[in-house]
Amino acid sequence: MQTTKELIRKYNVPGPRYTSYPTAVQFQETDDLSDVISHLDKRNREPRNISLYFHVPFCFSLCWYCGCTKIITKNTDRGDVYIDYLAKEMDLVKNKIHPESKVIQLHMGGGTPTFLKPDQLKRLGEEIKKRFNFHKEIEFSVEIDPRTCSKDHVDALAQIGVNRASLGVQDTNEEVQKAIHRIQPFEQTVQVTQWLREAWIDSINFDLIYGLPKQNAETFKKTLEDVKTLTPNRLAVYSYAHLPNLMPSQRLLNEEDFPTPDEKLSMLMLAIDNLENEGYRYIGMDHFSKENDELTKALVEGTLQRNFQGYSTHANTDMYALGMSGISMIDSIYYQNTKDLDAYYSRLDTGELPVIKQMILTRDDLLRRDWISRLMCKPTVYFDQFEEKWGVNPREYFSEEWERLDELEKDGLIIKLKNEIQITNRGRLFLRNIAMVFDAYLSQDKKTKRYSKTV
Ligand code: SF4
Repeated sequence: MQTTKELIRKYNVPGPRYTSYPTAVQFQETDDLSDVISHLDKRNREPRNISLYFHVPFCFSLCWYCGCTKIITKNTDRGDVYIDYLAKEMDLVKNKIHPESKVIQLHMGGGTPTFLKPDQLKRLGEEIKKRFNFHKEIEFSVEIDPRTCSKDHVDALAQIGVNRASLGVQDTNEEVQKAIHRIQPFEQTVQVTQWLREAWIDSINFDLIYGLPKQNAETFKKTLEDVKTLTPNRLAVYSYAHLPNLMPSQRLLNEEDFPTPDEKLSMLMLAIDNLENEGYRYIGMDHFSKENDELTKALVEGTLQRNFQGYSTHANTDMYALGMSGISMIDSIYYQNTKDLDAYYSRLDTGELPVIKQMILTRDDLLRRDWISRLMCKPTVYFDQFEEKWGVNPREYFSEEWERLDELEKDGLIIKLKNEIQITNRGRLFLRNIAMVFDAYLSQDKKTKRYSKTV
C-alpha cells in the first residue's frame, strides 16, 4: 500500500472545501427577492432552532495572504455606522423569523470582529439580544485577532454571552510574520488566551496556516510546539491557497519565499503526527480537536455537521447570515448579501434585504448535499438511512459515480460494504477528494481553477 505521503501527492488536486453544496460559485445574480421571501415564509410557519452569522468586515491592516471579504481602515467610528445597519438588517430578518424560534448557534466572523471597540461589541450584543431569543444551550463563538484584542474586549465578549473563541495565529515565527505582513508576538496570543480562560470563554480554537513564505518544516514545528503549550481545544491547520488572480493582495507576497510542494507536504505530515501524538483527533478538512472535545464526540457518535463556518455539533439548522457578503442557507435556498459596503447600506436604507445572489437547490442538489455531508461528517455512511430519507438507494442513484470509488477503496481511503461505506482514518485526510466524486458541477473542468489544492 502507498504511504500517506505518496497518497497526498496523488490526491493533491484543486477542489472545494464543501462548506456548502453546491458551492458559492454556482450562485446566480438576482434583483428579485420573491424566492428568498417565499422560502423564509415557508420555513417560519413553525418555530425551530436557528443559526445566526454576523460578518464584521473591518481590519486595521492587511495581511497579504488574506482571502476574506474585508475593508482596511483605522477609523473605528465606521463600526458604529456598521452596527446601525446591522440593526436595520436584523429588523428585516427578525420580522421573517417565527417569534418562538431560538438561536442555538451564533457566530461573529470577519474581517475582524475585535476591530469593534468593547462598547461597540456590547452594543452589537444588545441589539442582537433585543431581537432574537437565545437557546439556553447557545454556542456563541467569535473570531479574535489577538493583535487587536484587549482585556476590555474579552470582558465585553463575555458580557454578551460569547462562550467560544477562535484565534488567528497562523505562524509564530517572526520572519514568516514579516513576510506575510502580520506581526503578532506570541506573547499576545498567550495573553489573550489567558484572559479568555479567566472570563470562562474556555473553548478555544487556534487557526494556523502552512505553505506561507519563509516557512519550512523546522519553523512550523516550532509554531506547533508554541501553540501546544496553550492546549487549545481545537486547531485548524489550513493549507495556504495561492490564488493571486482571485485575491490580488496575495501578489504582495514574494513568490520566491514559498516552500516547495514537498516542504509543504512535510509540514502537513508534521502537523498530523505531532497533534495526534498530543491527543488531538483529526476530524477532517484541516480540523483537529481534543479527544474529550464535543467535535470529536460528535464525529464518533455520527452527529457532526458541516456549514459555512466549517464543522459544527448542531443538527442542520437554517443559517441567517447578516452583514456584507454573508451567505444564508434556508432549507433549499442559498442567498448572499452584496460584498459592496455602500450598496449594503443603500439597500438597507430602502428597507430591502441586501441580497444580490441566490441559488434554489433542485432535488438532485439536495440529495447530493446530504450524501456529501454524510461522507464528510460520519465515520460510516449507511445506505438504508439515506434511502429512508430520500426514497432512493444511493448505489442506484449514484450508479455512474460508484465505480470511481474503487480506486479510493484500493488506496485504503474507504471500505465499501453491502449496506455502508466506511471512511477510514486515512480517508479522513482525503474527504474533499471523496466528496468530489459526487459533485455534479465539477465535470466542467475549468471550474476547478477557482479552488485551492488539498495541500
Ligand atoms: S487575515 Fe484576518 S485580520 Fe488579516 S486582513 Fe484578512 S481578515 Fe483581516
